[in-house]
Formats: sequence, C-alpha cells, structure tokens
Amino acid sequence: MAYEPLPAVPDYTALEKDVLDWWDREGIFDKLRKQNAGGERFGFLDGPITANNPMGVHHAWGRTLKDVFQRYKAFRGLDQRYQNGFDCQGLWVEVEVEKALGLNSKRDIEEYGLAEFAARCVERVAEYAEVITDQDRRLGRWMDWDNDYYTFSDTNIEYIWRFLKAVHERGWLYKGHRSTMWCPRCGTSLSQHEQAGEENYVELEHPSLFVRFPLKGREGESLIVWTTTPWTLPANVAAAVKPDAEYGLRDGHWMLAEEKGEYDHVARGEELVGLQYVGPFDDLPGAVKEHRVIPWDEVSLTEGTGIVHIAPGAGTEDFELGRIHELPVVVPIDESGRMLPGFGLLEGLSTDEVEDVVIEDLRERALLVDSGRITHRYPICWRCKTPLVFRVVDDWFISAQEVRQELLDANATVEWTPSFYSKRMDDWLRNMGDWNISRKRYFGLPLPFYPCECGELNVVGSRAELEERATGGLDQLQELHRPWIDEVPVSCSRCDKEVRRIPEVGDAWLDAGIVPFSSLGWQSPEWIPGGYATGASRGLSGADLPDHAYWERWFPAHWISESREQIRLWFYSMLFMSVTLEGRAPYERVLAYERVRDEHGKEMHKSTGNAIAADDAIEQMGADVMRWMYSEQVPSQNLNFGYGPAHEIKRRLLTLWNSVKFFVDYANVSPDEEPGALDPLDRWLLSRVEQLVADATDAYERYWTPAVISSFEAFVDDLSNWYIRRSRRRFWNGDAAALDTLRTALTRSLVVIAPVMPFLAEHLWRVLRGDDEPESIFLVRWQDAGERDEDLLQEVGETRRVVELGRQARSTSGLKLRQPLRRLVVEGAPLAEKHADEIREELRVKDVEFGPVEASELRVKPNLPVLGPKLGRELGAVRAALEAGEFEEVNGGFRVAGHELGAEEVLVERTGKEGWAVAGADGVTVALDTALDPELELEGRVLDLIHELNSMRKQAGLELTDRIVVTLPESASDLLAHEDWIKEEVLAVEIRADGGSGEPEIAKA
Ligand SMILES: [Zn+2]
Ligand SMILES: [Zn+2]
Repeated sequence: MAYEPLPAVPDYTALEKDVLDWWDREGIFDKLRKQNAGGERFGFLDGPITANNPMGVHHAWGRTLKDVFQRYKAFRGLDQRYQNGFDCQGLWVEVEVEKALGLNSKRDIEEYGLAEFAARCVERVAEYAEVITDQDRRLGRWMDWDNDYYTFSDTNIEYIWRFLKAVHERGWLYKGHRSTMWCPRCGTSLSQHEQAGEENYVELEHPSLFVRFPLKGREGESLIVWTTTPWTLPANVAAAVKPDAEYGLRDGHWMLAEEKGEYDHVARGEELVGLQYVGPFDDLPGAVKEHRVIPWDEVSLTEGTGIVHIAPGAGTEDFELGRIHELPVVVPIDESGRMLPGFGLLEGLSTDEVEDVVIEDLRERALLVDSGRITHRYPICWRCKTPLVFRVVDDWFISAQEVRQELLDANATVEWTPSFYSKRMDDWLRNMGDWNISRKRYFGLPLPFYPCECGELNVVGSRAELEERATGGLDQLQELHRPWIDEVPVSCSRCDKEVRRIPEVGDAWLDAGIVPFSSLGWQSPEWIPGGYATGASRGLSGADLPDHAYWERWFPAHWISESREQIRLWFYSMLFMSVTLEGRAPYERVLAYERVRDEHGKEMHKSTGNAIAADDAIEQMGADVMRWMYSEQVPSQNLNFGYGPAHEIKRRLLTLWNSVKFFVDYANVSPDEEPGALDPLDRWLLSRVEQLVADATDAYERYWTPAVISSFEAFVDDLSNWYIRRSRRRFWNGDAAALDTLRTALTRSLVVIAPVMPFLAEHLWRVLRGDDEPESIFLVRWQDAGERDEDLLQEVGETRRVVELGRQARSTSGLKLRQPLRRLVVEGAPLAEKHADEIREELRVKDVEFGPVEASELRVKPNLPVLGPKLGRELGAVRAALEAGEFEEVNGGFRVAGHELGAEEVLVERTGKEGWAVAGADGVTVALDTALDPELELEGRVLDLIHELNSMRKQAGLELTDRIVVTLPESASDLLAHEDWIKEEVLAVEIRADGGSGEPEIAKA
C-alpha cells in the first residue's frame, strides 16, 4: 500500500490546523464520547478560569495537563463529563471592567450605575469566555464547549446561599469588627487566603521616622518611637514596651538600652508602663488626648527603638492590643485611603500624600528626632497591586474552629501529586484564620444576610425562600445580582418586620468552591434541561441542571488539577464547602504544579518585555511543542518557558518524525509481500514497545507526565538509533517483516504519546494506519502492555550501553567512527556477549573480548571537601600516596597510607594506558586498542569513500533504488581491493579507477 510521503521537517502550525479542521468535520470528539458513553466513569472537575482576559501561558500548563489525562482516560474507555467552567464575578472581573471604562473609584462606579456596571461585567465575561474557548480549542483541549458552567449564574448563587444557610444553622457565621488588610483603590477588605501568596508582597520604599513623645510629669523626658507609616501617627493611642527589657535615658530620650551604653538613668520596661505622654497630634479634633505606656511581650528588640507606636485603628496587632487594654480605636482614613475630617491639614490626603505634611509638621514642633527612607517588604492588593493599609471595619466571617479537624481528616483521604503538597494543605488548614467572606463591592455573589433590629440574622437559602418572604421588589428582580437584589426586602422570621439585605457581596472563592454541588445537581429534585444557565449566564451556556442521582454518580471527583497556589484558594474553598455540606472531600486525587517563568528563570512581566502571550506561543511553537514542554516539566518546580526550549524540543522530536518518514519512504518502494519470519531484532523491538506501553501506563496512572516523556524518548532513541540503524540493509531489500515490525512499533508508540501531542500523533496515525484500523488515533482502545522477552530487553540494553561507551572512548581519543580498529575489551556487561557481532559492526572492531579490562589505569584523587575536614594534616600524605598509585582496593573503597577511604571520599577516574582508549560508567568498562596497521588504514579509507559516494547520491537527488556507476581517480585504485563491499554499500553496478587525478564521480547506471 502507498503511504502519504512526509516532508523533511514538520510544519507544526499548518499540521495542527489541518487536524483541527478534520476533527471538526468528522466529529471525532463526538464519536469518542459516544464510544465511551455508559462505560466506567472518570470524574474530572474543571477549576473555573476567570473569563476577564485571554488565557496566558501559565493557564495553558494546567489546561494541557487536564487534557492529557482526560485523553488518556478516554483511551481506556472511561466515560467523562468534559464540562469546562468560567469564573465570572468578584474583584477579578470588576477591576478589569473599571479599567476598560476608565472608572477609578467606588464613587465612579456608583455614578456610572450598578445595573449598567453589571451589564458591562457580563459582557466582558461573555467576550473573554469566547476568546478563551478559541484558545483552548487551538491548544487541543477537548471539552463540551457549549455547556460550560458560569459561576455568576443564579443557580450557582443559590447553591452558595444554601451553603451559607447551613453555616448559619451551625452557628459559624458572625459579623466581626476587626482590623483588616484593606485595598484603598478597590475600597474593600481582603482575606488572608487571597493575600497569602508571595507575589502579593513587594519591596517598597517608605519614610523611616524617629518621633518624640514627651512624657507628662517628667520634665525634659520623652519616649522615642520608630514608624514607617506617618499616616498612622494621628491615630496614636499608646506606646508599647517590653516589660523585661532594659531601657535607658540619655539626653532626655528613652530608648532600649545598649549593653555597654552610658545612661543618665536605666529602667526595666515594666517600670515605664502606665506613664502618660503627649501624643504627636493632640491638637487635632480627631485624635485622642490621653496616651499611656502599655506592656507587650512581642516588642521587637532588633528593629526600631524598643518602644512601639500603637494605633489600634490602623494595624492588626495594635487592634488586638487595644482590645486587651481597652484602648479607644481611631480610624484615620476612609475606604479610599484618604484622611477623614477631624485631621485638620491632613484631611482628604491619601496615605502617601500625608507623609511630607506630617514630617514637616513634626519637624516644626521639634518632635522629629531623625528621618530617612527604608526599603522593606510590603503587602499589595492581589488584584490591583495597590499598597495595602489597615482599617478597622465590620466584615462577615465563617468560623473555622469547629470544622478545622474535619477538614484535616478529609484532606488525609486525598492523594496529592506531588505527595508533599498534602502537607502544604495540612499546614494551611492548621494555620488559617476564620474565613472573611464579605467584600464591600458590587458585581459579586449577593450575600443573603438580612439582619433585623430585633437581633435576628435572617439568612435566605434559595430563590424560592426569597420569593416567599419578600415584601416587595420581586417584579424587577431580573437576576440575583446587585442592584436588583437590593430592592427586595424580606420579613423577619422572628418579628415580621421588614428587613433589608446587607450591601456586601461575597468572596469569589465561594463561587468556585460550590461547583462540585451546583454543577452536578446536588439535592436537585429533578433534571432540568438547560437549567444551569440562569440569571447572568442565560444565553451563554446550554448546561443542564442534573438531578441528585447524577450528583451521586459523579461526586466526589476522581481527579482535579490546578496550580499549587490553589491550596489556599480553590482546593481549600471546595474542601471547606464540601466538608460542611457532606462531611467529605470533593476530590480523591489532586495534581498541582508550580509557576511559569521565562526561559532564564525570571518572572514574566509585560513591563520587562519577557512575557509571551499564549496566542503567540501557539502560533510560533505549535500547540504540541507547548504541550510537550508542560508535560516534561516536573510539576513541583517552576517551568522555564520560552522559544529557546521550544526549539530544542522541536529538534528532539525530529527523531520520531524521521523514523516515520524513513518507514514511509521505504515502504513506498517495497513490494507488497506477506511478512516472513521475524528476526531477533524484530522480536526485540516488539518487546521494547510493550515495555514502553507498560512504563507509560504506569506513569499515566500516577499522573506523572515527566515519566511518560522520558520513557517515550528512550523508546524513540532505541527505535531509531538501534532498530532502524541495525536493520537498514533489510529495509533496502524491502524486507516485509522489518517493515511490518517497524509500522507496528510506530503506531503503538503513537498511541502512547497521543495524549501529550494529539496533533502530531493524529497526523502520523492517519499516515500510517491500516484500512482496518480506526480513522482517528483517539478512537483506538488502549491495550495494556503485552508479553515481552525481558531477557532480550536486558541483553540489548546492555549491548547498547557497551556501544555507547565504545563511541565515547573513540571520541575522547579523537578516533573517528569510520576508522576500523583491531580489538575491544568489555568488562561488566556479560549479557552483551550474545551480541558481540553487533558490537563489532557498530564500533568497527575486528574482535570483541569479554573479560577484565587490564588496559586501564585507576586514578584516585582525594575528594577534598569531604576528606579535608576528616584527615586534617594527614591529607598531604594521603594525597601523595594516591598520586604515586600506592593504594589497594578494598570493599568498594581504598586503603591508603594507613587510612580506609570510602567510595564517596575519593574521585575515581579510569584512563587508558598507552595505546588504549577507555570509557566506563555504571559498572561497565570498555577498552579499545587504538593501534593502526596498513590493513585497518585501507578499510578506513574505503569507509570514507562509501560515505562520500552516498552523500553524492543524495545531492544528485537519486531515488533510493537507483543504481550507479562510480569513477575513481587513479590514486584510489588500491581501494578496489574492496570493490564488492563498496558496490553493495552504494548500489553501484560498476567501479572504474581511471578518472585521472580528480575527485570521485558518479552517474546513474
Ligand atoms: Zn485593589
Ligand atoms: Zn426581627
């Protein structure tokens, strides 16, 4: 049969687009889903991608891994849901829409109008959901694209309401009054889990001030405090000292005493406690007028003056101290971070603008002792990168105390890849605080909390409950978002008074965390076709709302995969919600992975010009090359992504391409014959491919793509550099058994790699497949590894090692491969003895001996970093003895100059004695006799000529089967001693040696 010829190198982009079109035209994905429908299930749950921007190359890593394992499980016949998810509300989307509309504050949004703002948010999500879908398809991801879940649907919102009601019934829901990290641009508090990532801290420069607080009743004495936040000084209430530390008074200044300092007076911190002082801004109406010294064991003795300025309204620890000591709380800034009325000159200034005014004012009043600048790590908003401040506000929390142990127990049932991430999750669960779920924003989950003045907190658990209890506003309730929801008051369940909803919206991780319930129809009494697409997602998705029986079939998910930072985000919120509702983890296995860097290991930033857009990467590298790069990466380490690594992958992939091309080229010129008996080499390749299947199956089952890639590459190397190389003559002769064996091995290995490189695998499958085989590689069923001849595999493995070492020995001695040699001695590879002929041919040696290599010299040197400390002054003597060869080998180590040295204490090198080239590794040593004689030299020249003539054939564009006539110069006539050999190797019918003094020539016969 004739195979479609392949070009010399693949055009990945063209090939991939071709395959995509063909998949669409032929409905291959639908055929696969039909083929697997009703089979055993593989429950995968997609973590929602935020639909507010195009997908980046960091998203493509996770999306590749998801697709790889979904494709693998489909090969195994497993039935899957393939539902993609979009995250659609909360700060993510709001901030992007604000940027697009040129809005800069919450007031701007309110002036723009909440209904209009919500509409713009929905539009942005719809736009980018489409963009991301196109990118994902191009990346090769197979999903049920028109039935995505959107977290802003009313259905999703209602499921979260149910969760919140359950939380309230357990008594975990409370309103907290506390100091919290606050973004002045977004105008909202942020939660611990949102802010915990290392990327949310940057080096920033701030003022560093030493300020004097004059003590009352102690004329001429002042406390000296240090601060980097001048805006907090007007909110000062107290100064904290460490009770058991020593403080000293010098020049009227109290500070931590230095050990050898000279002071007018020295006192322990506890002696200062209770003293009163004049605050830095007591003239301002907003400031408190009474200030005192309080004790605090946590005062740092390494930073500042040992006396800490305490402003309970502007810092978390300050707030907690304030509670203990019943201090007043002064909040100096409003929600946009500007100083409130009551702070005189400072009113209306931002925390940055305040700096110079405060410094100048303190200086004028002689309260500033010293000032400078300091660079330190400082938190920024995870969403908009604005430096954060602290404010004391009311927020809604879910208490984590009661559920903490249950969460830990549930995590113990989850299998993590890499496994140490399990401990990371445990650490997070042990240390996390209560869950701050409220955000003072607009387009997010409307929290269904209706506090009544009678003391009752009404929590509405569903839309039906809302409708039942509403006292008005239902006719305008087009969806459950603000502003519409705000117009629906309900009646209090205790006193029947009308109560209104709090204005806050929810943390976006509630939206994503509920997905294992909302998208699978938990407790849904009936199946509602198209029933998931409610509220804002109406018209965007055709997803059904399944019934509870369906949820029981698909919950918990067998496997999920997202980046490692989701431990404190999505993995966490899902676990929290699922343990609360069902008492168990919503997933059985998790694969997590680290971050994408540029190819030099630096963070990618648009501003530094090293960012790569996913679209550009796909077009220029090809999706398969990207997928290979993601799959090869050990997930617990950052991936260095770039065009350099992509180029290197393309180079490596050429071996596979060339092997298929080799097959096609020879099969197309060979007669169609029934294959005869198999050669031992054929049996080896067929065993070898089964070994590949076994190794890859094991790797896929462990969710470990790096091992899939390494076993595939090792196989392709064996196939190309051993099987094909050793079988060339049979292919020239059109040997049907060799062709059939090669085709079988290629198609079987393509299935193995198809989940990683779906495009190239599909393309090559379509070139190679037989008429009785499935039209698409993805319709093939995975066959587990069949029988293999382990002895043969080991023999050939050892033989290949010997040949590799032989080549290495040649190259380190500068002996070219084409120069035949007399003798090779092999030690430590007994299994290779059966393959001595192959070794002889591959290494161009006349004889191969198996036995001890005596031609090598052992050189032993001290491993200085280890031996230096151990031997001390005796090192010199040991070194001299080693150098002189005065040592004995004992029990894997060495005895020298009265010392026994272990293998790790020395560096061992084997070198050839004069006239020998030696190489060794892993217990195998080979030695090549490098001596030449006239016969060997002549053969070397013959091989050079054969090589030259074959290159000329290629350059002349001859077909593989064309015969030639060769004309040699007179000077080469001695080569005719090997005339038959040359003829056979270059397909010559005649060789003449009368060509004068020029170069060899060839002509088609
Ligand atoms: Zn922000
Ligand atoms: Zn009430």
